[in-house]
Amino acid sequence: MKRPTTLLATIQSHHLYLECACGRGAEVSVADAIGRLGHSANVSDVVEKARCAACGKKSVKEVRIVYKGASDTAMAGAAGTVDSTCEDDGGVSDL
Ligand SMILES: [Zn+2]
Repeated sequence: MKRPTTLLATIQSHHLYLECACGRGAEVSVADAIGRLGHSANVSDVVEKARCAACGKKSVKEVRIVYKGASDTAMAGAAGTVDSTCEDDGGVSDL
């Protein structure tokens, strides 16, 4: 799989959609990922850390950078504290 090396800090109002080899998919807030991995982390760092909640494997087969609008930009710029409800759907989100 081609792993994008985009710096998270440059896309912090976006989300990452990770899809596991087993077909499970989940979205992770980039701002939240920065909070966990730091400002020097890039997209491939997230992919390497992500573990699937369905099959337990680290086998992300696809990652997409998703822009969901400006609604959470203000929070993302604060302290990396964002709503993480989108992670609680049992997908590829355990960084
Ligand atoms: Zn899986």
